[in-house]
Amino acid sequence: MARMRDSEFTEYFEGKVRDTIRKHRLLSRSDKIIVAVSGGKDSTTALYVLHKLGYNVEAMLIDQLLGEYSRTNKGNIKKFCNELAVKLHIIPMREEFGCSVCYMKDVLDKKGFRMNTCTICGVMRRSILNRHARKLKATKLVTGHNLDDEAQTFFMNMIHGNILLSAKLGPTTGVIKDRKFIPRVKPLYYCLEEETKRYSKIKNFPVQYEPCPCSLNSFRTMVKKNLNELEKQHSGVKLNLAEGFLKVIPALKKQYKKSGRLKECKSCGEPSSQEKCKVCSLMELMKTQK
Ligand SMILES: [Zn+2]
Repeated sequence: MARMRDSEFTEYFEGKVRDTIRKHRLLSRSDKIIVAVSGGKDSTTALYVLHKLGYNVEAMLIDQLLGEYSRTNKGNIKKFCNELAVKLHIIPMREEFGCSVCYMKDVLDKKGFRMNTCTICGVMRRSILNRHARKLKATKLVTGHNLDDEAQTFFMNMIHGNILLSAKLGPTTGVIKDRKFIPRVKPLYYCLEEETKRYSKIKNFPVQYEPCPCSLNSFRTMVKKNLNELEKQHSGVKLNLAEGFLKVIPALKKQYKKSGRLKECKSCGEPSSQEKCKVCSLMELMKTQK
């Protein structure tokens, strides 16, 4: 396919997002939408396109406090929201849990619990986002996940033998409805990382293109490299993975629903599939005597 001109490409890209929203009924005009922003190209793009399409959006940044990287992200996103006249909520991670992700990772390492920084960060972030979006009476939480992210996660779940976990994937997250859980949706579901990057560069968004410094050694990064290599040699691999996956997802969701319903965490009352939510379980691990 010949390379599209920039103006054609932006139209194509925005059309793709619009079609995804329509096809999977992700958002409606009456939704109060919180976009989880990080200062990266994906979430910045999601915020921009939804705002352009006229949705009622506000942004939420969880400040991970990872030194210079986070400071730059925060500065960028503040400026960006200001220009768009979109309300921005900044939640410092340390204020929520009393420590940073790096500190948690260190303590857990010392106690012999080997856990990926991205896993810890993901658990904490999802919890904070849900809680604060609920406080703001949001009806939808938007994330910047793209087709690459989705293909990677599906692949990783398979490799780890956790295929049922993939029931939580797809353009809308949340298999089981719960009043305390704000549905999460992914308008960039069919956008390749390459495409989002191009869109973001054409629009000159103030974003950092380097990945989070804490993610460099993660398993995801390894899977990402391999999938990119495969895609180079067999164009369409990522789309095939994500589309093949969409065909099996209804069966997975059915199976997953049988495995239980959302309960309230015994310690904090947040929605959880287990007796104790992942955040409380992590906090407990940190207090283990070794
Ligand atoms: Zn809990």
